[in-house]
Amino acid sequence: MVLEEKVEFDNSKLNKWKKWALKGDMGVKGYRIVEGAYGSRVDKIEKRRYMVVERPHGVVYQHSYGLLSRFYEGLLNKKLYGTKCPKCKLVYLPPRVHCWNPKCKLEETEWIEMPLEGEIVTYTIMAFAATPFLKDLPFILTYVKIGNSCTAVPLQLREVNPLNVHVGLKVKVKFVDKPKGDLMDIYVVPAEKPKPPKRSKEEEERLKKDLKIVEEWVKKHFPKEQ
Ligand SMILES: [Zn+2]
Repeated sequence: MVLEEKVEFDNSKLNKWKKWALKGDMGVKGYRIVEGAYGSRVDKIEKRRYMVVERPHGVVYQHSYGLLSRFYEGLLNKKLYGTKCPKCKLVYLPPRVHCWNPKCKLEETEWIEMPLEGEIVTYTIMAFAATPFLKDLPFILTYVKIGNSCTAVPLQLREVNPLNVHVGLKVKVKFVDKPKGDLMDIYVVPAEKPKPPKRSKEEEERLKKDLKIVEEWVKKHFPKEQ
């Protein structure tokens, strides 16, 4: 039984995808040979020959958030929910439906509203990403411990110079204007003036140089749409 619904997609496209899914059935419909990048360092990329196949496929992926639905529904209302074990009191965000503490024997947890503040546990600067995030490159990906949670959530950190980010930085959780019930509905911004660790001049220069390489690489490969 559907209790509430908000689905946004073009039905005509869905039919086209369905047709492709049936007709194409992911079968190979052609190929091209291309020259592409190879290497694990953006400043030392070689060119290699690759074969790319055309494999038409259409899909609308419908999946249930199951017992974690409360968390995602909370995002729609710009609220953050975690879970707490009634036995050992451990708090989880990302939420866990059952406590991981072996002593609790998979006790079912309880939902609690979480504060919109946390602390950076670790971070990196992304030079490449999955398709939906290419437009945001380069961005800072952090793992944030929200409130008194014993786990950390991967979130984008915005509104700060990447060179000033550091472990332990206090952050605030922000919501995008129109949440969709997805982890990308939230991101973090600094809640205090960053106190980056003292670095040697060489290290500072190296970081700046590396960052510039990333920025230029991104600009070249994923130019921002005008
Ligand atoms: Zn427990």
